[in-house]
Amino acid sequence: MSDQTFTLYPCDLCAGNELAEIPVAPFYMDGRPLHVCKACGFVQAAYRRTPEALQKMWAEEIYRANDARVSDKTYTARIPAVVARQTFAVEFLAESVDIHGKSLCDIGAGEGQFLEMLKQPRFDMDVFGIEPSSENCAILTDLGIANFDGTMEDYAASGKTRRFDVASLIWTLENCQSASGVLAAVHDVVKPDGHLVIATGSRILMPFKKPLQYYLGSNVDVHPFHFSANALTSLMHKAGFQVIAHNRFIDSDYLVLVGKRVDDAKGLALPTDDWHEIVDCFDRWHKETQAHYADW
Ligand SMILES: [Zn+2]
Repeated sequence: MSDQTFTLYPCDLCAGNELAEIPVAPFYMDGRPLHVCKACGFVQAAYRRTPEALQKMWAEEIYRANDARVSDKTYTARIPAVVARQTFAVEFLAESVDIHGKSLCDIGAGEGQFLEMLKQPRFDMDVFGIEPSSENCAILTDLGIANFDGTMEDYAASGKTRRFDVASLIWTLENCQSASGVLAAVHDVVKPDGHLVIATGSRILMPFKKPLQYYLGSNVDVHPFHFSANALTSLMHKAGFQVIAHNRFIDSDYLVLVGKRVDDAKGLALPTDDWHEIVDCFDRWHKETQAHYADW
């Protein structure tokens, strides 16, 4: 790719420069490549727009027009499938950490239904949302949810010093320009001994739960990262959150990890995946999809 809009980034997890293309991915991604890091096995679109180019694209409304998931004209998060996964994240968090009466900051708060669940008397959380869509911030305000209109990095740079008992990234981290960059910023808004919960629909190396065309798409600019449990654990450990709980992701559609903030992350394990196994996983997924589900 020689288009100057795109920059070839090193691995977002380990900063390695040895990246292999996943051969079957461009078939589902309008010819655009998906990479796996040869050192740590993290799956990522290494050709990404710079934050500046992304901002320009958003300003030109291409983002909204091309991705139904973020278009407030065609998408609402209040559909059963989304409510179900938000509910799972709430229940898993509540099972893992004592959250009653605590403060929580949700990064990428969307229309606020996750925060509404946590406001209920059962949890009675003091909730706050960080959300880059002004339209969604207006919805949050209408719901009585305090919010910041911008990205996590904008919030960190704004000089706000509020710290929270819990931070949450619910189906958001895969959509960031830099996953490690966001997590570094999150660390600064969590209290010492506070917690971070990350939930995602990525679960690389697990049994396939959907045809590959439902997983990979041309929306690389809004979905550059694909997590395995190992990759997400390492990202959290590098950012100073020691993983204390994970769901049983082998037969779930979700991968949910909870981490506890630590001041010294040096001793935490950084588990990796074998990049050959990742490529093989996608090959098998592609074959299965084409043999049985290509017409869906
Ligand atoms: Zn790597």
